[in-house]
Amino acid sequence: MMTVEELRALVRTVPDFPEPGIQFRDITTLIGHGAGLKSCVAHLSQPARNAGAEAIAGMEARGFIFGAAVAIELGIGFIPVRKPGKLPVETIGIDYALEYGTDRLEIDPLAISTGQNVVIVDDLIATGGTALAAAELLRRAGASVSHAGFVIDLPDLGGAAKLREAGLQVDALMAFDGD
Ligand code: AMP
Repeated sequence: MMTVEELRALVRTVPDFPEPGIQFRDITTLIGHGAGLKSCVAHLSQPARNAGAEAIAGMEARGFIFGAAVAIELGIGFIPVRKPGKLPVETIGIDYALEYGTDRLEIDPLAISTGQNVVIVDDLIATGGTALAAAELLRRAGASVSHAGFVIDLPDLGGAAKLREAGLQVDALMAFDGD
């Protein structure tokens, strides 16, 4: 099993993407490494297991990679939190603010049973807007959401703190300074 320190070295930092001033923390290099991917999923699974997860919810698209892997590791189901217009059934959705404009997430409400303990998994938490919206949406569908796990936290952007204020326990394998 690789250590979190070793996994951190597999994350590629791309300066000025998608716009000047942003340091993009790219997980392509981490998931392309067999032992790295396996170890990363093992590390992510531990807190979800301890939280008593009954299902994992992951946000499109990178949250699908880690979320589905954690669900398989724990032997539980995976709930896709999708971009608008992708699901073929009646959905419930939530609009949330971005730095510029808004975005929207949708789920199939029938994918969740009332009171189900759903743990959120995503690759990275920045401002926390995406994860907060996902938590709110899952709660509206009846889920009990008390835990979120990320590979990467950007603490300077305050997302993890915001999630904790909203009553979620937050775990991240590693942190990077700045945005
Ligand atoms: P936020 O809603 O601000 O927490 O942003 C969450 C999503 O934006 C994450 O799922 C990431 O995939 C992506 N993201 C935001 N900032 C970065 C960054 N610096 N590097 C890589 N991905 C990022």
